Amino acid sequence: MPENPNETKLVNFAMANSTRRKIINFLENGSRSTGEIGEIIGEATLDFHLRILQQAGLAELEEETVKLSEYGKKFLKNKTGKAEERTADFSQARPVEIVEIRQLSPCIVDSSKLRASANMVPPPGGILKLLEPLFPRSNYSDGKNSLIIQKGEIITTIYGSGKISIRMIKNENEAKEELESLKSTINAAIAKGVAPAPRKKVRVELMELYKYLPQTNCGKCGEQGCYSFAIKLMARQIALDRCTLLKEPEYANNQEQLQVLADYI
Ligand code: SF4
Repeated sequence: MPENPNETKLVNFAMANSTRRKIINFLENGSRSTGEIGEIIGEATLDFHLRILQQAGLAELEEETVKLSEYGKKFLKNKTGKAEERTADFSQARPVEIVEIRQLSPCIVDSSKLRASANMVPPPGGILKLLEPLFPRSNYSDGKNSLIIQKGEIITTIYGSGKISIRMIKNENEAKEELESLKSTINAAIAKGVAPAPRKKVRVELMELYKYLPQTNCGKCGEQGCYSFAIKLMARQIALDRCTLLKEPEYANNQEQLQVLADYI
């Protein structure tokens, strides 16, 4: 496994893309010709994706044959091992209740929408990470032990402590409905006692990324404007944090929405 942070970044970057994940999984059962891989992912971007996998040390290319490197094999094995651990851990979880739902002040970014808070009991603690695959658009943060779930405009954040914050809601009833649906989804999975199925791929559209950018065209990211930035973001050629305006409090909601979306590009 790479110990150098730059190498780790290369691996993370390589595996963040669904096409490259598809190639790596395709190679799991042995080497393949570039033609065979091209048939699956298309010829247009084949060289580009293979180059990134090689740079990350995950795959090797000899003449027209591609195979997993020793590191690539270990990487896949490690991933499978983690999936098995998840199943075991999830089976220990207990059903949850959501209590103390309270409406709070209007949202900072859109005063026509409201924020609410609630508590999950028992607190999800260590199983929070395991809940991530249950929601089509969600993002778990190890550092904060929090899970952000995006559903339309609504953003719900669950913390390991049990605290829940829900934003961009129309009224308290909408918050209650959302939280009830959240509870049902979690408890249905807990009742099965197995790790959630892998998330379905969520298609992210260019205009969806653009919609959440500040749209000031200030150029601070080094791009001509927000639309150019969205194109590069979509192509994974630029990092979200290059848009410095998103760090301003007034764009906090936009940043969270984009963070979740960027996970699915
Ligand atoms: S820094 Fe952000 S707001 Fe400014 S042009 Fe770039 S993407 Fe748009």
